Amino acid sequence: MDIKSKIRVIEDFPEKGISFKDITTLIKDGEAFQEVVNRIVDDLKAREVDYIAGPEARGFLLGAAVAYALGIGFIPIRKPGKLPAETVKHEYELEYGNNTLEIHFDAIEKGKKVAIVDDLLATGGTVLSAVKLIESIGGEVVALEFLIELEFLKGRDKLSNYHTNSLVKYD
Ligand code: IMP
Repeated sequence: MDIKSKIRVIEDFPEKGISFKDITTLIKDGEAFQEVVNRIVDDLKAREVDYIAGPEARGFLLGAAVAYALGIGFIPIRKPGKLPAETVKHEYELEYGNNTLEIHFDAIEKGKKVAIVDDLLATGGTVLSAVKLIESIGGEVVALEFLIELEFLKGRDKLSNYHTNSLVKYD
């Protein structure tokens, strides 16, 4: 299946000059959604992953589906003030602006293997922030999985210590 053809590109959103990759058109298509989840699951099967973690909000859509398919748990990484128990925070720069992410400090038992799933790899700031949060509470990051990679932003260069997989690339 041509997954790329299911992604809608919106020019100048959320700011002028940004070519936004809209995955709502893809996840609305049951077969395409299933294919994406299956392909990520296939890449993770041999890695003995204990948990999937995903950043708010599109990381929840894919990450929870992948976790369910693997029969393992999902750990949310959220914007500040959303998680109810004690958290750790990390601040980073985004393709457009700044962001802070949080994780529950007790979300991962020491040494557990975690794969991060998100919709899109741009500069790599978001996923690196998620990596730092997971490592800071004792988790081991074993894979980074993306639906989309914006290759021209070279986010992958920051992630050379981690297995990084993406299904659809734009250059
Ligand atoms: P990065 O931190 O620069 O790698 O940006 C990746 C994050 O920004 C991901 O969590 C994406 O959900 C979001 N993002 C950036 N650009 C797009 C886009 O074109 N479509 C959807 N999400 C995007």
